[in-house]
Amino acid sequence: MKKLTLGLLLVIMSTVFFAPTSQANPYYGTAYNGYKIYLSPANHDGIDKFGCDSFSEINNAKALTTQVKNVLTSMGYAVYIGSGGATANTTQSNNWGSDLHVPIHSNAKGSFNATVDCKNTNLDYGASGTLVMHNVNKSSTAASAVLNRLKNLSPGRGYDKVDSDKAIVGSNLYELSATKMPSAYVEVGFHTFRPDMEWMRDQKTSIATAIAGGIHNFTGAKDCRVSACPITTTDLEEEIAQLKEFVYEDKVLELDKFGYINTYIEADITKLLLDQFDSSLSEALNGVYIDNNGTVAVDFKHFGYIVGNPSLIEKANLVQELNKVIFEHSQVNEIYYTFEGNLTSFGDWTEFGEITYKRDSFSDRIN
Ligand SMILES: [Zn+2]
Repeated sequence: MKKLTLGLLLVIMSTVFFAPTSQANPYYGTAYNGYKIYLSPANHDGIDKFGCDSFSEINNAKALTTQVKNVLTSMGYAVYIGSGGATANTTQSNNWGSDLHVPIHSNAKGSFNATVDCKNTNLDYGASGTLVMHNVNKSSTAASAVLNRLKNLSPGRGYDKVDSDKAIVGSNLYELSATKMPSAYVEVGFHTFRPDMEWMRDQKTSIATAIAGGIHNFTGAKDCRVSACPITTTDLEEEIAQLKEFVYEDKVLELDKFGYINTYIEADITKLLLDQFDSSLSEALNGVYIDNNGTVAVDFKHFGYIVGNPSLIEKANLVQELNKVIFEHSQVNEIYYTFEGNLTSFGDWTEFGEITYKRDSFSDRIN
């Protein structure tokens, strides 16, 4: 009698234990090669970029990322796709302890609202092709592995290259600098270049296979389709459940307690935006506050709802010019930029993270 009860209990337990792995799990397959990959599709604080024929960078990146995930999970990888901005996704990827972090975007010509080269005449091949970035202080191995599979695939190959984020945007992209694991930031092609746009729109399966192949070449992991791998453990199931519950809390400054309004700096910023950038941005300044330590908070209406999403180069240039103008005021030691008080929001839109821009060093972060 005792034996029978134990037998029955084992049957129940094994049913509970094996049930999840026998169903298709969106984040991993039935076999596990031991590697965790975090995919981070374009988000830019929720502000989309559009290319030829209203191609949406965010929608394309989401669809492509899902296909990359499908290929990887079939090979035995555990894969999580982030749904937040650069800051949240980096934090989540670090918390999970992923083996590789891969932001997936598409590229744009370096000017505000560029939707050029869409007519198939006099195409600028210099602004076409695939770019994969790595952090300037980290290895380029992962980025090279992904590019090696992607290069020569896009119709516009003027740009096919691996480069450091420093060389491209003159600053550190948060998802490359703040990730604890290797990371490779993929700009699949230029959505402002018609042949690239059509390729990204129509050839997602081959692009996803190439990206997954590059990731696989980098990890050197087993491909469970052809090699024997252990069965997926319940640990992974718990990890994925935790990832799904993760909520990132944005850093918001209490501007009303921050310091005193400085109308001189306000006037200089407004002039800069009017003279050198989109004139509509000159209306975006909410206020400049400075405290007794020379810490400045510059608060804007969200640029994304005014000028959308310029290229990384253009955004880096904008921040650099703002810094120059503000540091000309000798009492300023450090600067925070916020959208409606939200530091994370500005950092996600620029993709540089929650940065304190300091007079002597421009790379120190708030935490
Ligand atoms: Zn992007």
